[in-house]
Amino acid sequence: MIQCNRCNLQYIGETERRLKDRFDEHRRTIDNPNNKSKPTTAAEHFLSSPNHTANDMQLIPIEKIFSNRDSIRTTSDMADHIRPIVRRKPDSIIIHVGTNSLRNSDSSCECADEIVDIGRMVDQDGISVTISSLTARADDNELAKRAKEVNKILRKFCRQNEWGFIDHNNITTDQHINRSRLHLNRSVTSRLSQNFISFITGQ
Ligand SMILES: [Zn+2]
Repeated sequence: MIQCNRCNLQYIGETERRLKDRFDEHRRTIDNPNNKSKPTTAAEHFLSSPNHTANDMQLIPIEKIFSNRDSIRTTSDMADHIRPIVRRKPDSIIIHVGTNSLRNSDSSCECADEIVDIGRMVDQDGISVTISSLTARADDNELAKRAKEVNKILRKFCRQNEWGFIDHNNITTDQHINRSRLHLNRSVTSRLSQNFISFITGQ
């Protein structure tokens, strides 16, 4: 995320390259207006707004970390996966769990507990913890009902423990689940990322 420290505007983009290389691209055209390369959308803001310099451009790194579903089956597998991330002491960690965990646990409470346990693992050294709610699914009424219960427990827990909570209740099964009735369709994927972005940018 690039933030303009003059007007607090924020741009979120994605890159698979080294973050520094991408950030340099944004800055290059601002530092050197004669540069022939086309300014990026973020750079345009700094070029077209009065009194803006490259120094007003702040980079706030957001890293997406995927867990490989096949290798992570238990909470302790998850702990092993998260440990090196926690060691790097990020400001904040958002935990988004798939609904597979619903099927494997005996009750909503147990499932919520497992997600809370992951949060507890990262809740140290001033890292702020946020839980992202389970997204609804239509393939199985029982699981859909359970997802709702789990979210209710999680929402309450997060409020009591001053953890963040990202609610995806603007995603509903009837509108947004694709034909397989399990995986989120394209419009949902963008709505899901929009929910994350809104949370991150505080809007
Ligand atoms: Zn600005």
